[in-house]
Amino acid sequence: MLYKCVKCGGEAAVRIDYATVGFCKECFKEFFERKVRSTVLKYAMIKPNDRVLVAVSGGKDSSSLLFALRKVFPDLKIEAFHINLGIKGYSKESEHKVSELAEYAKTNLTIFDLEKELGISIEDFKNTVYRRKICAPCGVVKRYLINKVAYEKGFTKVATAHTLDDTVALLFNGYLHGDVNGIVRLKPVLPSTHTKLVAKIKPLWEVTDKECLFYALFCDLPYITEPCPLGGETTKMRERKELISELSTKIRGFKHIFLKSHTKRMLPLLETSVNMLPLIECELCGMPSSERICAFCKRMRLLK
Ligand code: SF4
Ligand code: ZN
Repeated sequence: MLYKCVKCGGEAAVRIDYATVGFCKECFKEFFERKVRSTVLKYAMIKPNDRVLVAVSGGKDSSSLLFALRKVFPDLKIEAFHINLGIKGYSKESEHKVSELAEYAKTNLTIFDLEKELGISIEDFKNTVYRRKICAPCGVVKRYLINKVAYEKGFTKVATAHTLDDTVALLFNGYLHGDVNGIVRLKPVLPSTHTKLVAKIKPLWEVTDKECLFYALFCDLPYITEPCPLGGETTKMRERKELISELSTKIRGFKHIFLKSHTKRMLPLLETSVNMLPLIECELCGMPSSERICAFCKRMRLLK
């Protein structure tokens, strides 16, 4: 069936399944940017004096996030941050795309090179208990460094490119395994609970993977198309997303309904049942931690 753009009546270039409407390229870009803007405003993610560090991986989602934030909030102080993980072939290409993107979006970019700064590559975890399951320590390293750099450079917010599909897939797993602590952390804004912990925001909270892909394509954004060669766990995530997409063909709007119920109904209830322990400072690095030695320092010890 041929779709017309719901806004201008021209030929549609993309169809939004959950709303059964189509958009031409230009109207879709506006639709996407309006969605990012309304999400930021709805959850009061950014205040006028904030300095926002956007974590960019080189993938379509974070490229779309940086570019859309730049367009929607042109006066906001935004910079980009990328970690070169030292993954053969892949990291060099990611860094290249991120550098192109920063230039295209006229944004300052800081690159943290694991090999140059810490003398390690994320691939070194292959020789530890993690063997082929590198995503777990990789996630710890990335979260730690993004926060540390943001804190040290005086940023007040860290923006990450978690999409609606990411959150729904994680929620699905969380509910499946009864991981209440994990579920409670899945929210659009994670406020700072320690002076050295920078608040996290997720402006793509209500945007799907597919919408990010079309936005990146229609805006001609540079992004890496190959998946990370170490992504064993992301294969699981991809399978979960496929399953959820299949469900969405039977229950229209399933992902949006699930996310809305979680955010509005379940989250406030679950939050009252979880006691978050106050953060202390890691004995080795002084950064916030729930234990004497933080998760990052523990992983670094493994490599020594
Ligand atoms: Fe790191 Fe896994 Fe992502 Fe590769 S797929 S960058 S190893 S988290
Ligand atoms: Zn530490």
